[in-house]
Amino acid sequence: MSENILETRNLTKEFRGFVAVSDVNLQVQRGNIHALIGPNGAGKTTCFNLLTKFLTPTSGKIFFAGKEITHQKPAQIARLGIIRSFQISAVFPQLTVLENVRIGLQRATGTSYHFWRSDRCLTHLEDAARELLAQVDLTDFANEQTVNLPYGRKRALEIATTLAMEPELMLLDEPTQGMGHEDVSRVTQLIKKVSVGRTILMVEHNMNVISQIADKITVLARGAVLAEGNYQEVSRNPDVMQAYMGT
Ligand code: ADP
Repeated sequence: MSENILETRNLTKEFRGFVAVSDVNLQVQRGNIHALIGPNGAGKTTCFNLLTKFLTPTSGKIFFAGKEITHQKPAQIARLGIIRSFQISAVFPQLTVLENVRIGLQRATGTSYHFWRSDRCLTHLEDAARELLAQVDLTDFANEQTVNLPYGRKRALEIATTLAMEPELMLLDEPTQGMGHEDVSRVTQLIKKVSVGRTILMVEHNMNVISQIADKITVLARGAVLAEGNYQEVSRNPDVMQAYMGT
């Protein structure tokens, strides 16, 4: 099975004549962990913003599960199951870890306050939140105030709130950025774990992380695709080495 869950065709974004993303043809295979890499300014963030419709492409098309989504709005994109994991600012620091996941679940289902206030639903919500915390190994931190969580655990919470949205395709923006060795390795394993039954597209700078978990890598440079393939193929590519040397 080599079905592409996400495809872009000649995706292009210009900012007042400056081409930030240029004719990018991405093919993200269902079930893969796909890494988007490239030097600073390569167009990775702009690509993510185009895929989630934070930005409108200047030209080109985006397809999800075979259906064109180029002109859909951000909320429609999220409803289709394309969910971007945001930095931890999206959660409430004074609430507990469990409360934050519960709120994430309530938001995700979009059901009314009164519905969720019923006893049966509160129990269900609590169970679902605990289940998500278990998935990201945060059970022991359930009653901690979020503000007190160590940094790496905050990123795990961010992944849990993303999972609450039932993503088919998760977009992770530098999930290991700013972490120490131990957290990097924990979050790397976590990404591998939550990728089961899902597809992940991630921007990541840490080549060690990429070598461990990425099935496919797309290298962007100056807005265009420079190389594609698995870690061995990409890491040996002379064009890629040169792009990273900044020449
Ligand atoms: P990366 O995430 O790979 O570092 P970006 O997508 O952030 O790269 O940026 C790609 C290029 O587009 C950069 O040269 C950046 O300065 C430019 N750019 C990004 N957003 C804007 C914007 N809103 N207006 C003008 N230029 C932008």
